[in-house]
Amino acid sequence: MMKTYRIGIAFFYHESHSFSPLKTEISDFKNEGYFKGKQIVKAYKGTKTEVGGFLDQLSKEKDIEIVPLLCAAATPSGIVSKEAYMMIEEDMLTSIQQASNLDGILLALHGAMIVEDMFDPEEVLMGKIKSQLSPGTPIATTLDMHANLSEKMMGYTPYHFGFKTYPHTDMYLQGINAARILAEHVRGDASYYSAFRKLPMMPPSINMRTEEGPMKEMIDLAFKMESKEEIANVSVFGGFPYSDIPMAGASVHVIGRNKKAAEDTADFLAKQYWDIREEFIVKLPSAKEGLQLALSLNADKPVVLADISDNPLSCGSGDTTLLLREMIEANVPDSLFGALTDPQSIKACTNAGVNQMVQLNLGGKTSPEFGLPVPVIAKVIALSDGVFCNTGPMNKHLRVDVKGAAHIQVGEVDILLIGRPMSANDPQLFRHIGIEPKNKKILGLKAKNHFRAAFDPLVSKVIYVDAPGVSSNNLLNFNYQNIPENMWPLKSPTYSLH
Ligand SMILES: [Zn+2]
Repeated sequence: MMKTYRIGIAFFYHESHSFSPLKTEISDFKNEGYFKGKQIVKAYKGTKTEVGGFLDQLSKEKDIEIVPLLCAAATPSGIVSKEAYMMIEEDMLTSIQQASNLDGILLALHGAMIVEDMFDPEEVLMGKIKSQLSPGTPIATTLDMHANLSEKMMGYTPYHFGFKTYPHTDMYLQGINAARILAEHVRGDASYYSAFRKLPMMPPSINMRTEEGPMKEMIDLAFKMESKEEIANVSVFGGFPYSDIPMAGASVHVIGRNKKAAEDTADFLAKQYWDIREEFIVKLPSAKEGLQLALSLNADKPVVLADISDNPLSCGSGDTTLLLREMIEANVPDSLFGALTDPQSIKACTNAGVNQMVQLNLGGKTSPEFGLPVPVIAKVIALSDGVFCNTGPMNKHLRVDVKGAAHIQVGEVDILLIGRPMSANDPQLFRHIGIEPKNKKILGLKAKNHFRAAFDPLVSKVIYVDAPGVSSNNLLNFNYQNIPENMWPLKSPTYSLH
């Protein structure tokens, strides 16, 4: 009889912002995605996520039994509470213990999680998982492009697969790659080495898209290296610059079939990355300047004003008000703003009812230091429970629950209110309540780069605006305490290959 290998699947995902006023609690994970055992298959089978990739690839392998363990994900936000982390860690370790006799584990991590009193929780978690498994049991991970990685974390296994796209549309593919190499390893067919280089730089993410610019140059090089026989995989990590931790910053990881090739490739890529760092810096217009620029374009398709400093997927509260205020004052016909996180105003709209006028104080509740609430008289156009499924390329088919939504009109401006922070990355966020973003002139979006995967075909131009917020492009706005002393672009360190 053919031997069957038992592969565990787990997912623990959070991107934590050191300067966000919001702490991430266990309820944030339970509301977003907390699944055990078979529930994991139900939630992720058929989705274009890392876990969707794990499941699809392993189901194809005749000699593998899938053992779903634990999945916990919360929207990027402030630091994770110690209590929440400990609960998830305990559930994770218990599930591994109960599964027993695992031949390997596939682990989808973000790589930029911070916990109260823990700078490198994913390293701690990997260590504890390793100690639960019999010696030599392999782990393969998928990691976000914005991961802040330490030598220690990367030392537990050579099998790390970072996303190569931003917007992240290859999560599924990296899930497949990780599953494939792990299957090869458990059958005894794999022999790989890894090389890791950490750079003293924290590039802002605004100009990190892989469609154009410096990160495209790096990813093109990564593919070129992977075309060589001795290189199995290359990951280029941008880091998450809002993490005030000693292991913040960009890095490069290479999986090679021989040690020297892996080390040489890592050195080559690290040097290239360092040499082009200045290309990551861009200067953005203010909200007012951005709006004037949008109006001057006379475009035939919508122009996007992206409120990047409050992008919920970069830990924004989704309720800062500067761009909203400018758009309400300009009162341009066919303009749409969304989505503003404001459960209180949704409640007021629900109480008033559809077609009714209602007095609201929009936004500015979680982080009033970035803009006070905007008092308005609004007409309630539509209400919804806030549940929809993504239709765009990123996390396609994944069910999203924004905890209620209201479509309101203030003068000529359509505004979408939602019950919890969510980047406007998928048009279904608007369509599910009857708003067609394609038919608008100006779209003010709480979003950064991810939305472009779905929105680029619908719009004529994207203007990133510099409004106040926790994910501001200007890193000098933050009071770092724990990052290494010499870190570009805050300082001008030197970097030499070792
Ligand atoms: Zn990311």
